[in-house]
Amino acid sequence: MAREGPTPTPIVVHGDVFDRVIVTPHILGGSSVTWELDDKIDVEGPYAFYLEWAEHPDAEWVEVAGPAADSILVDTEQRRFSKLPHSVYRVRLETPTGLLYSDVNPLMGSWNRHDFLIAREVIRREYLALKRYTGTRGRYLARKQWGEVCTECTDYDTGQVTDAHCPTCFGTGIVGGYHAASDLWLGEDLKADREKREDGVGMVANIAQMARAVACPFLTSEDVWISLATDERWAIQQKRKLVMLRGKPLVWNVELRLVPPSDVIYTIPQDWDGGASSSSA
Ligand SMILES: [Zn+2]
Repeated sequence: MAREGPTPTPIVVHGDVFDRVIVTPHILGGSSVTWELDDKIDVEGPYAFYLEWAEHPDAEWVEVAGPAADSILVDTEQRRFSKLPHSVYRVRLETPTGLLYSDVNPLMGSWNRHDFLIAREVIRREYLALKRYTGTRGRYLARKQWGEVCTECTDYDTGQVTDAHCPTCFGTGIVGGYHAASDLWLGEDLKADREKREDGVGMVANIAQMARAVACPFLTSEDVWISLATDERWAIQQKRKLVMLRGKPLVWNVELRLVPPSDVIYTIPQDWDGGASSSSA
């Protein structure tokens, strides 16, 4: 469950059930809010999450997204930091037995307006370079870290996935397996050659590649990137901060591994909707 590596604008809170809530402002508009639940949570499901926003911690809360059964919600509204510097988010969890709230999280974390403007310019230029010259367009699938357990293939007693080719959870153990696909440009790192190794049968066993990615989405190891040009499926292995601003990453250097063609990941459609029909939403 633990996420690897650094995260953009990490704001760590310790509520009663919310272990970690992270607000990531999308420089081009909107904010995504992700969270984890305490492992020891002892509240009967099903769960429905909502995202609430207020222009100040003491102002009236407005529901801006939800319900969702997953651990990510996106506020598509662009909140202007210059006009709303005290903006805050919180997550509301509705269960059959009551309501629970996360702690309150600021929109911009510790960035001030000047930082925000610099970051926006850096990212604008990065996007421009990706789209015009170096980039490959693809679809990004964030692996679900939490959600409805797949009853098709997980062992009732141990929770272990018993079918790596399960069509309901794609071998992740969570229904839908991955959140809805979104566009993501990757720039190949020209300094790094494709590293190829072949096994005894002549099958390509391991192809790894480095790429540049804007740090807007919340890239995590085990997430998947689909090349729209080739339909190749790449698994994100790890990432390194390439461009930083005041301790926060703006551009990642990502290591990707080509997923073998036999993998169930190739059965996921490029326009995957996250398996929403199975959620309570
Ligand atoms: Zn399954």
